[in-house]
Amino acid sequence: MDAQQFREFGKAAIDIVADYVDNIRQRDVLPSVEPGYLVDVLPENAPEQPEEWKDVLKDFNDLILPGITHWNSPRFHAFFPSGSSYASIIGNILADGLGVIGFSWMASPACTELEVVTLNWLGKLLGLPEEFLNCSSGPGGGIIQSSASEATLVGLLVAKDKTIRRITEVNPSLDEDVIRSKLVAYTSDQCNSSVEKAGLLGSMKMRLLKSDADGRLRKETLKKAFDEDIAEGLIPCYAVANLGTTGTCAFDPLYELGPLCNEYNVWLHVDAAYAGTAFICPEYRHLMKGIEHVDSFDFNPHKWMNVNFDCSAMWVKNGHDLLQAFDVQRVYLADTKTDTKIPDYRHWQIPLGRRFRAMKLWTVLRIYGAEGLRSHVRNHIDLAQYFAKLARTDDRFVVEPEPSMGLVCFRLKGDDIATKTLLENLTKKKKIYMVAASYRGRYIIRFAVCSRITKKEDIEFSWNKIKQEADIVLSNEIQ
Ligand code: PLP
Repeated sequence: MDAQQFREFGKAAIDIVADYVDNIRQRDVLPSVEPGYLVDVLPENAPEQPEEWKDVLKDFNDLILPGITHWNSPRFHAFFPSGSSYASIIGNILADGLGVIGFSWMASPACTELEVVTLNWLGKLLGLPEEFLNCSSGPGGGIIQSSASEATLVGLLVAKDKTIRRITEVNPSLDEDVIRSKLVAYTSDQCNSSVEKAGLLGSMKMRLLKSDADGRLRKETLKKAFDEDIAEGLIPCYAVANLGTTGTCAFDPLYELGPLCNEYNVWLHVDAAYAGTAFICPEYRHLMKGIEHVDSFDFNPHKWMNVNFDCSAMWVKNGHDLLQAFDVQRVYLADTKTDTKIPDYRHWQIPLGRRFRAMKLWTVLRIYGAEGLRSHVRNHIDLAQYFAKLARTDDRFVVEPEPSMGLVCFRLKGDDIATKTLLENLTKKKKIYMVAASYRGRYIIRFAVCSRITKKEDIEFSWNKIKQEADIVLSNEIQ
């Protein structure tokens, strides 16, 4: 493929994407395909000879699109948003056009420095304490990880290393492996699956502590767990607080957990994967009260901030901790820069290689501006409130807990079976897509406002589908 063909291929692909977004409402949100549908029609081997780009795009339209779940459809209400925007797509094209790997400053200075700058911008927009920012005088700073899952694991590995160093400094004769086997991590039973997985991957016992009736991990619960473990000869090491749980978007009180973790020398990480974006709006920052006590904080611009996957923004108060945990030297990786404030990001993450992800964050921040992003967040929250209002006008439904951010949870009155049937039937019909959670022991349906192009009429469309299906489910129950 030469440059001219690339121009034509690229322009045609951009037209396809723009048409896809313009017409996304015409598609069912869930695909009508069976497992194996694509495997059965694609050739068994890669082509020997080069093919025409037009044939590739034809197959994209004919074979790939029918098997897509339309995460950016305004009828997609499952999980949380999958960020996407034209600004971000262009950022990705530019980054891919350069094709650099930015594991050290010298490997591409702009790749590292744009990340430093955009994470300073973003940290200030969220109202993070200055000590988390690279532009402060201290050792704090931000990095883009690929996912919230990875950030939680990085936090755990750093906490493990730091705790072992702290203990062996006081007791040099202690065996590191023995200390390692005693370390314990803590979070709530409302944590995302990725938090539990971090314990598995990092070989640390992860205790999922009981949350209160509102889905929040409270200080007394965490303190009791620390004390129990210490009495057993174990060592509390790492805690993950959730700001915006996946089930109901509940917020753990950092102002309670933070001072406690500080007192027990436990690294406190915050998983704000979805809801963190809301902190760009000052009116929601009270939900992160106590943030000054935490060691690391992570949220996903690739969820609610219109940045395409993958872009998970993580800040730590002390970058030296990461360096001490992850620094592995080789002659070919020798650092040539003199400014120690500029990080070599390979020490801050699990892989060696890293994409130029700051580019799409930069294009999004510039093309939307802070005000554009704030109105996107506020619009989603208003739309969620609108959905809750519609649901509350129908006395067959219960909306609970209170809607939080762009998430509304609801169920039918009566036992859980009707609500389960409602969700199953709606999923089979493929017009709207939601998933379930549980709240105070009850089965609930989560309705998340996800697409950046969602309008009031889309909310009405989805609500009407839910209402019509409820008519069917409840009339079948009576018969
Ligand atoms: N944490 C929370 C609260 C989430 O809701 C999710 C995903 O929805 C994750 C973590 C995992 O995010 P990622 O896919 O970036 O690892």
